[in-house]
Amino acid sequence: RAAKARELRGKPGALKDGTRIPLLANVGKPEDAVLALEHGAEGVGLFRSEFLFIGNAEPPSVEEQTKAYADLLSRFPGRKVVIRMLDAGADKPLPFLTPEDEPNPALGLRGLRTLRAHRNVLEDQLRALAAADAQTHADLWVMAPMVADEREAEYFVRLGKSFGLKKVGVMAEVPSIALMADKVAQVADFVSIGTNDLTQYMLAADRTLGSVAGYQTAWHPAVLRAIKMIADAGRDNNMPVGVCGEAAADPDLAVVLVGLGADSLSMTPAALDDVRVELANWTLTEARAKAEKALNGDFYYPAPFPSS
Ligand code: PEP
Ligand code: MG
Repeated sequence: RAAKARELRGKPGALKDGTRIPLLANVGKPEDAVLALEHGAEGVGLFRSEFLFIGNAEPPSVEEQTKAYADLLSRFPGRKVVIRMLDAGADKPLPFLTPEDEPNPALGLRGLRTLRAHRNVLEDQLRALAAADAQTHADLWVMAPMVADEREAEYFVRLGKSFGLKKVGVMAEVPSIALMADKVAQVADFVSIGTNDLTQYMLAADRTLGSVAGYQTAWHPAVLRAIKMIADAGRDNNMPVGVCGEAAADPDLAVVLVGLGADSLSMTPAALDDVRVELANWTLTEARAKAEKALNGDFYYPAPFPSS
């Protein structure tokens, strides 16, 4: 496997039959961009912009943000870079934006909901992204986290375009968006599936809580069925559908995701080699057959329930 990984390093992600599956990197802090390139990422599939905001008493200025985004984009000339809007709240609280008294923060003000409650933060970030895009030559895609349905998707896409952004999409991590995926595909340029939160919300199990950690697996057929709904809507409407949650970093699950219709995968840079090697062992027909089995629950083994 190590030899195969060396041989494929630097080659684009592809199945055995040549079907291209771009392999992108999740980037959470500036150093990750270097790692991403070292591991042969074809671009960035998820830039978590939170790190610019965390640890500060107030949001970064438009100028500071522009500089940070331009720095990232300039490392990936001609390549796809998906930047996620600030995902404050729940497991990523920000003192100046997140209410302290929410009984269930994961079900509270987070992601796009926080941004809508703080229009200045939302608009400053869009302004900075458009400015950074104008200064650089990457292929910038911008998406919002925690979007519930096609109305919220349309709200965000319109606003993003009014700032001059060209490709504007949404994350699929709230289960309601999977059920509305056909309508979302009418308004969004792309969808990126966040399997960490999608799993948390499908199975109603807090992703930060050890006592219910056994639920946190995208191998659960209910999660895979939701992913299929989104991928089907993408295929029917010519809308790109990628996956950027942890599930994409599991080589066996990555094959299933491709079989379900994901057209790109984004993951922590260290996982790129193994996923690239595994995908090269499968044709699209074989991956689809494996996905069929996974939808039936054939590969799902519930974790033993922890005793108290
Ligand atoms: C996800 O929810 O799957 C995701 C990619 O975003 P985060 O883990 O940052 O919430
Ligand atoms: Mg998420």
